[in-house]
Amino acid sequence: MDEGSAQVESRQLKVAIIGGGLAGLAAAVTLMDNAEVTIFEKSNGLGGRALTAHKEGYDINQGPHALYIGGYAHKFLDELKLLPTGASPNISGGKAYYKKRLATLPTTLSSLLSTGMLSLIEKWQLANIFKRLAKIDTEALKGKTVSEWLDSDVRSPAVKETIAAFIRLSSYCNNPDMMSAGAAFAQMNLSSQGVLYLDHGWETMVKALAERTTEKVQFKIGVEVKELQRFGDDTGIHVCTSEEDEVKSKLFDAVIFAVPPHSVAQILRQYDPHDCFADALAQMDAIEVTRAACLDVCLKTLPIASTTFALGIDEPLYFSVHSTSAKLAPPGGALVHAAYYLEAGRTGGVEHRKRLEQYLEEIQPGWRDQVVYERFMPNMVASFGCATASNGGHQGIAGPLLKGAKNIYACGDWVGSGHMLVDAAVSSAVEAATMILTSNKIMAHSR
Ligand SMILES: Cc1cc2nc3c(=O)[nH]c(=O)nc-3n(C[C@H](O)[C@H](O)[C@H](O)COP(=O)(O)OP(=O)(O)OC[C@H]3O[C@@H](n4cnc5c(N)ncnc54)[C@H](O)[C@@H]3O)c2cc1C
Repeated sequence: MDEGSAQVESRQLKVAIIGGGLAGLAAAVTLMDNAEVTIFEKSNGLGGRALTAHKEGYDINQGPHALYIGGYAHKFLDELKLLPTGASPNISGGKAYYKKRLATLPTTLSSLLSTGMLSLIEKWQLANIFKRLAKIDTEALKGKTVSEWLDSDVRSPAVKETIAAFIRLSSYCNNPDMMSAGAAFAQMNLSSQGVLYLDHGWETMVKALAERTTEKVQFKIGVEVKELQRFGDDTGIHVCTSEEDEVKSKLFDAVIFAVPPHSVAQILRQYDPHDCFADALAQMDAIEVTRAACLDVCLKTLPIASTTFALGIDEPLYFSVHSTSAKLAPPGGALVHAAYYLEAGRTGGVEHRKRLEQYLEEIQPGWRDQVVYERFMPNMVASFGCATASNGGHQGIAGPLLKGAKNIYACGDWVGSGHMLVDAAVSSAVEAATMILTSNKIMAHSR
């Protein structure tokens, strides 16, 4: 037993969670039966990137959001009986946008046979690749990039572009020269199990988790954590916040960061004068961020009712009418999400907005006359991590335990391997919480 665990045996374990998005909430719910938890959230509400805006009867997520049916977050919420309602989009009836024209998106055998975007030989190649990918050994391909795999295993440029487009769709990542092929194919296989668009938006997950918390979870909303301190022989960690008087002297046994990696690095640099976790910080600095330029549009009515999904094949474009499957718009209205998957290192700008608006015009001519509300967000971080081949397929850092930092953990979509996006955020949160309970000799309750 280490020093820290001896101290907390006779009293309740105190854990600070920095960040009140889905990861912070998942960690709190996992800890709350066995610890006193304080969640610090710097903005004026919980939710982070899972927040939903409400305008004139439309529920608008921050860019297109879909919950993977076979993914970790879905399972976690389902086990807690907190799974929100929603429905799956009909992607098999969708369109491919290729060479500036719309064609049938090849997702099933019949759509593959009928699509006009591929020649007969290309259809045969793609069918074989889909078959192969469904049972490919993704572990063995963790260290190979998507581009390396496509160059060695696929001949037709159109088929390469199609596979790359499905990878972008399932992972948000437009970085084939760095992305791990193993992680990419695992995510593609996950997405083939289907996704859910959630009724009334992702905020429903935030609300469900917040409502599940007990009095053992305290919320400090509008309170930014500025630094951590450790004094003399204290075994605990002082969390210093923007509301100094109240919390400055508050001591915690453990801390979970559920914030972006640059925020963790900023706080840890001050906390660590001896550079004990230089390796962890260097890893955080090197993380590849996955970004998209997002255009969210509320329409009075959809000009072409039959076109509800269109995936760019030779351009990194996305279009989907989320309100076709989920309750997100008033009767007759349509909530459209369009996105431009940004290449690594690129930031979004007016040119991306122009391109997305043009894309809408090509898919839904006359859409401008129907606009109730439009929002462009040039630089949304879909994931603070990207599973690269050079780091063995993990998202950013290998796991929640920060080497060298005793009782300090991190979670988010940039932590761990085997999951992406919200599945990575929630799984690393549960892992961090479980590590705290086990290192303090408390068994996590099975849900
Ligand atoms: C455009 C877009 C599309 C996406 N689509 C999908 C999708 O289809 N499927 C999917 O699975 N995932 C998707 N995601 C990803 C998903 O939204 C995130 O993985 C998930 O919401 C991350 O939750 P989090 O709690 O880890 O981080 P965040 O939601 O970023 O929460 C971090 C919180 O920490 C707070 N904070 C930061 N610093 C401090 C501090 N010093 N003190 C106190 N609080 C602080 C922030 O205010 C924020 O609320 C998408 C994301 C975006 C942006």
